[in-house]
Amino acid sequence: MSEGILFIVSAPSGAGKTSLVKALLARDPGLSLSVSCTTRAPRAGEQDGVHYHFIDQVRFRQSVSAGAFLEHAEVFGNLYGTREADVRAALAAGHDLILEIDWQGARQVRERFGSAVAIFVLPPSIAELERRLCGRGTDSDAVIAGRMAQARDEMAHVEEYAYLVVNDVFDTALDALAAIVLAERQRFERQRPRLKVLLDALT
Ligand code: 5GP
Repeated sequence: MSEGILFIVSAPSGAGKTSLVKALLARDPGLSLSVSCTTRAPRAGEQDGVHYHFIDQVRFRQSVSAGAFLEHAEVFGNLYGTREADVRAALAAGHDLILEIDWQGARQVRERFGSAVAIFVLPPSIAELERRLCGRGTDSDAVIAGRMAQARDEMAHVEEYAYLVVNDVFDTALDALAAIVLAERQRFERQRPRLKVLLDALT
C-alpha cells in the first residue's frame, strides 16, 4: 500500500480555513483530519478527541519532553501540538492527512517531512478580512485590532507555502483545494508503488 500524503493548511482566522477543510473532508473520503492537542479550553460544541485533545499544560510539557509531538507551538497564548504517532499511523495506513496548523508548526513539519504539501488560505483582501473579523459588531475596536494584528502575523509567512488558495467565493476556493489534493495524488512518484506492475511492463 502507498503511504498517504501529508497536507498542511494554514490561514489567518477569518479566512474560512476550518469551513473549507470541513467541506473538503465531506467531499473526499480518502482524506482525514489530524486531531491536535491543545491547552486551550473547549469552546461551546467542541468535543474532546474530536475537535482537539484538550490537555493541561503539565501533560502538554510532558509530551514535549517525551518527544511525542511532530510539531508544537504557542498560538495566541495557548499551546498546540500534533502527535507524531497519530500522523505516522494514518500515513502508514494509506490515509491522506490534513494538519490544520499555524505557520510555526508548518515550518517544523516541512523540516521533518520534506514531502508534506503546504497550502495557505488567504482572504480576498485586508478590508474583507477586517469585515469578517468584526463579527456581529459587538466587539470593541481594540479587540478587532488585536485580531487583525494576529492575522497579519500569520499572513506574513504566506511565501513559505507551496500553494495559495484565496477564499473569495467559497465553492471556488473549495474546488481549488480539491484540485490541489487531486494533483498531488497524480504525482508520478506517489503512483509508482501502486502502478509498479504496469510501469515495469513499459520498460
Ligand atoms: P483555534 O484555537 O482557533 O482552534 O486555533 C488557533 C490557531 O491554532 C489556528 O491558527 C490553528 O491553525 C492553530 N493550530 C491548531 N492546532 C494546531 C497544532 O496542532 N499545531 C499548531 N502549530 N497550530 C495549531
